[in-house]
Order: sequence, then C-alpha cells, then structure tokens
Amino acid sequence: MIPYGRQEITQADIDAVIAVLQSDFLTQGPTVPQFEQAIADYCGVRHAVAMNSATSALHVACLALGLGAGDVLWTSPISFVASANCALYCGASVDFVDIDPLTYNLSVPALAEKLAQAEKVGRLPKIVVPVHLCGQSCDMAAIHQLAQQYGFKVIEDASHAIGGRYRDLPVGNCAYSDITVFSFHPVKIITTAEGGMAVTNQPALAERMALLRSHGITRDPAWMTHEPDGPWYYQQIALGFNYRMTDVQAALGLSQLSRLDEYVTERQAKAAYYNQALAELPIVLPWQHPDTYSAFHLYVIRLQLDQIRVSHRQVFEALRACGVGVNLHYIPIYSQPYYQQQGIAGAADYPQAELFYQCAITLPLYPNLSREQQEQVVVAIRDSVLA
Ligand SMILES: *Cc1c(COP(=O)(O)O)cnc(C)c1O
Repeated sequence: MIPYGRQEITQADIDAVIAVLQSDFLTQGPTVPQFEQAIADYCGVRHAVAMNSATSALHVACLALGLGAGDVLWTSPISFVASANCALYCGASVDFVDIDPLTYNLSVPALAEKLAQAEKVGRLPKIVVPVHLCGQSCDMAAIHQLAQQYGFKVIEDASHAIGGRYRDLPVGNCAYSDITVFSFHPVKIITTAEGGMAVTNQPALAERMALLRSHGITRDPAWMTHEPDGPWYYQQIALGFNYRMTDVQAALGLSQLSRLDEYVTERQAKAAYYNQALAELPIVLPWQHPDTYSAFHLYVIRLQLDQIRVSHRQVFEALRACGVGVNLHYIPIYSQPYYQQQGIAGAADYPQAELFYQCAITLPLYPNLSREQQEQVVVAIRDSVLA
C-alpha cells in the first residue's frame, strides 16, 4: 500500500541521533536549545519552545494566554481533534467556524459574522486557532485585523505548514498571531518521531510555556518567592507538566530541518504533477491563494459527485483496494461523539464543512513518493472515478 504520508530518514539523521545517544545528555542537554534556536531563525521569530508534541504545545499555548473555565476557543471543524481538545484541557469550551469553500481553511467572512453575533450576546472567544490545512496558510492579515477589533488572541495551528510561506514570509514568524505551533509527527513535513514546537515574539509567553512544559518548576531566583535556600534549590510556582522534547529527538529534528526547503520544493513539484495529470477528471484540485506558498503536507481532492456515477465511499474503497493508501482529512470535529456529548452544534451550522466531508480524499504525497507511484495513483483515480 502506498501510504498517504511517510517520513524520510537519511544516514545523516541516523548519525546525528547516534551522536546524541553517545553523549552525556539524552534529555535536558544542549541539543534541544540548538533545535529551538534553529527553528526560531528559520521562521524569523524571537522565541521557540520545543515540546513532546504539537498537542502539548497547543495546551501550554492556551494556558500561557490565560484560557480557563468560562472562556471559549474557536477553531476550524476540519482539523485534527487536537486543535479543539486544547481548550477542553483548560476547562474552557470550544466552538467552530465554518470553512472557506476554496481553501478549506477557517472562513474569514464566517468568522467576522460569528464574531458580530457573539459580541451581541457577550460570548466572544478568548482565543481563535486558525489551522493551516494541508500546509496552506490562512488569511492571517484579515484574522489579525479581527483580533484587534474584537480583542481575542490567535494561536496558529501550523502542524501542516512548517516551510510554507504567507505574503512571502515564513509561516511561524508570528507577525499576525501570538503563538504558532508546529508538529513533528512522522507524517508531517519534518519529524522528531513525536514532537512539537511553540514559537512566539512575546518573551513573557515563551517563559510561561517553558515553565509549564517542565512541571511549573523554576531555578531562576528572579521568579522565586524568596532567595534560594542553596545551590540545590528550585521552586514550583505553577502546575506544569512533563511535556519536554528529548535531545535525541531534537538531534533528529535539527538534521531534518536542514532539508526542510528541499522537502517543500519536492512536495510542491509532486503536487504540480498531480494537478496536471488529474486536470481533466471530474474532481476539484487544491486551490492555492496567491498570498500563500503551501508546505503541501496534504494533497486533498474533492470528487464532483454530481458528475460521476460512483459514490465517495466507492471511490475511496476502490483506491484502497488497488494499493493506494488514501485518507480523509478530516472528519468534522463537531461530529465526534465526545463533542456531541458536550452539546456542540452539529452539521446544520457548518454547511461547507459538511460538503467537504462528503467528497474529500487525501492522495499520497511525501518526499520519497516516486513518479511511478504517482502514475499508479493517477491511473487508480481515473479508473475509480470514471467507473
Ligand atoms: C498532527 C496535528 C496535530 C497534533 O500533532 P501531534 O504532534 O501529533 O500532537 C494538531 N493539529 C493538527 C492540525 C495536526 O495535523
């Protein structure tokens, strides 16, 4: 089966990991700060805080921005559940904004309309989490403008988007947000096996996230309630977690980061091949906003169901049956049983998310996907869609 996504591990990656395994520090050593600095430099952002996953990074990002009981976080329903779960971890509630029919990102007009309504009933969100679906940035300037107008904070869920650009600057520069979060899960653009990173230009947020990632414990006398008792001394000043990335993971991340631009270029080229090879079929290809350069984590097509005789499910099953490991990103989060139990509004409120779910399919796309494999995917799609 050709998977929809796969990591590439080189000998340089393996050597980098072995070097750390043979060093004094497997964790809490020098490699994590090196990886953080390298990501900050790449993104053009001041601070980076490495974590054991993007899920952890989203959680502490919400806490650092003060999200708690009685607050509301808004995000896109077409995302991985982690984009919404972070609010529930903090005792806050979640609401969703319908997606844009072209980019499948959170719709800015829908956001503006929902904000106007929410203001009337005094239920504005504290945080909005735009998700850069497939690696294509949301319209951050417009979201930033609404954030100024309505006074909410912005966390970019850029789990798909490291290496992508918005208005010619790297995703993660936080010019239009408070915090940006990346994932380094193996299916994403670069990997640390498990891992994530939160980046920000605000020193207070970076300090708070670093504190919460490691038990809420500090060794900095400036933060203590009194002078240290001695050289052994530390204080716990908040309830934190163990969300630390290891140095072994950071070594892999650093090595992978050196190939990030190459990976995105390859993903763009493979996406361009699909675009051309699938152009004549009754499917909608991924539309790209001129302000964006996508990292192309995912290549998502939509079937034009009114023009074909087979169902979405039949096409999906036919592709899997001939060895094409297609997937569906994503099932609308509000439809998950856990969210339904929370009394979250369902399908009727999100017509675009529903339409998307009824016809979307994710095709295989990753750096080592060969031309022959892509041809196999194209033939399988043609055969299943025209059946
Ligand atoms: C993968 C992903 C996450 C979670 O990342 P982990 O590093 O696996 O915790 C969050 N949001 C989105 C949009 C993702 O795709």
